[in-house]
Amino acid sequence: MKSKKIRNDLILIISLLVTFATILVVLYISRTSANLIANIYVQNHIVKRVSLDGEDQEFKIQGTNGELTIAVLNKKIGVKESNCPHKDCVKMGYIGETNRPIICAYNQVCIEIEGALVNDIEI
Ligand SMILES: [Zn+2]
Repeated sequence: MKSKKIRNDLILIISLLVTFATILVVLYISRTSANLIANIYVQNHIVKRVSLDGEDQEFKIQGTNGELTIAVLNKKIGVKESNCPHKDCVKMGYIGETNRPIICAYNQVCIEIEGALVNDIEI
């Protein structure tokens, strides 16, 4: 009777461990496969799509009134330099989430992140 209880406890512990490990694996996969893409629009047209999962980079975008220097840094994207008067787009910093776009009204530039999120994963 006692050994049966120990065996049951073992089974419980092992199944807990397996569950825990599964959760960790799923979290890991969903993180790595999030594959964030930033769409950069000028006057509502996509001029560039850039993956945030790649290497850090910098490039220039021609806005309606001048040039913006966009930078990808640590899986985030932001405006590094801009010729706009108030620099609101630069002040917005770097975004790595899907819910908050960066807008430069002066140059009619919008940077928006799209993501293929956790829904795509089949367990
Ligand atoms: Zn701006």
